[in-house]
Amino acid sequence: MTSPHPDTWMRVTPKGLFCEPAGVYIDPSRAVDRAIISHGHSDHARPGHRAVLATAETLAIMRARMGADRAGGSQQAMALGAPLDINGVTIRLVPAGHVLGSAQVVLEWRGSRIVVSGDYKRAADPTCAGFEPVPCDVFVTEATFALPVFRHPPAAGEIQRLLASIRLFPERCHVIGVYALGKAQRLIALLRQAGWERPIYLHGALIALCELYESLGVPLGPLLPVPPLQKRGKAEAGLAGEIVLAPPSADSTPWSRRLADPVSCAASGWLRVRQRAKMRGIELPLVISDHADWDELLATASDVQAPEVWITHGREDALAYALGTRGIRARALHLVGRGEDEDEALPEAAPEPAPAA
Ligand SMILES: [Zn+2]
Ligand SMILES: [Zn+2]
Repeated sequence: MTSPHPDTWMRVTPKGLFCEPAGVYIDPSRAVDRAIISHGHSDHARPGHRAVLATAETLAIMRARMGADRAGGSQQAMALGAPLDINGVTIRLVPAGHVLGSAQVVLEWRGSRIVVSGDYKRAADPTCAGFEPVPCDVFVTEATFALPVFRHPPAAGEIQRLLASIRLFPERCHVIGVYALGKAQRLIALLRQAGWERPIYLHGALIALCELYESLGVPLGPLLPVPPLQKRGKAEAGLAGEIVLAPPSADSTPWSRRLADPVSCAASGWLRVRQRAKMRGIELPLVISDHADWDELLATASDVQAPEVWITHGREDALAYALGTRGIRARALHLVGRGEDEDEALPEAAPEPAPAA
């Protein structure tokens, strides 16, 4: 018996990818009866599903962000690698290396295998399990950074640039704009790996998820809330020589007045394009991303040995073209509601289309 083409059992619907024989959506953009969620970012994990399947970590993140009642009528945790049968479809979750709990969804039906990767990266991340390539017939990938200009340098080197700046400006406070889920905790863990043992100060918006990471077994070292604004005259000393993490928009608000002559930093893959940093007044751009860069996207397509790749969102054209030259059929899915990725979107401006390279 020849196995069915993935097209016949995985469909693109207005709510997202739908596995017909299992009756289950993957990362649906609207509330559905039954959903598998790859990870906790808000463009993948939406509230209001009747039943949710995900890793225990992703379920905990969803509850923390949406409240238990909106995180799914029923929640079923799946251990990584453990197969689950739904109407003859075998489903497994495999690490995606993106944020804590992130998983690729491996689906198998009548000898045909589809891997839906969610978001992923290949670089090591001390806060989550590393990406595991799974050979498949169709690999479903993101394409956030699918242009040759996007090559992320090693994160450890970017952390060294930050530490050098702190040594150079001991009288100033370094404020790093980061998103609350994933980037904040990875940055803290990378700083600890680099030997930074001092307390790291957090904007209130980042505290809950850092505490959740710690409760799920990811040690982050001493963390403190940024102290409230002091009386005039005392404010100058505000956290000089220290590191503060805040949401990307916070450093242009009155909130930052409590800090000593802050150095505005941000951590994002988009900052590889210097113009973007300049436009947003970022003095110290750190090119650190939780998404695959151009080389990782191409290497992964080859590692999973899929004759066909479906692209969910991002720079579909460039990736489809590059895969085509390597003999891999590529198809853009144009999924609704993606590409607003909270972990990589920079404030104030959406990424404008860059010229094809
Ligand atoms: Zn994500
Ligand atoms: Zn995403």
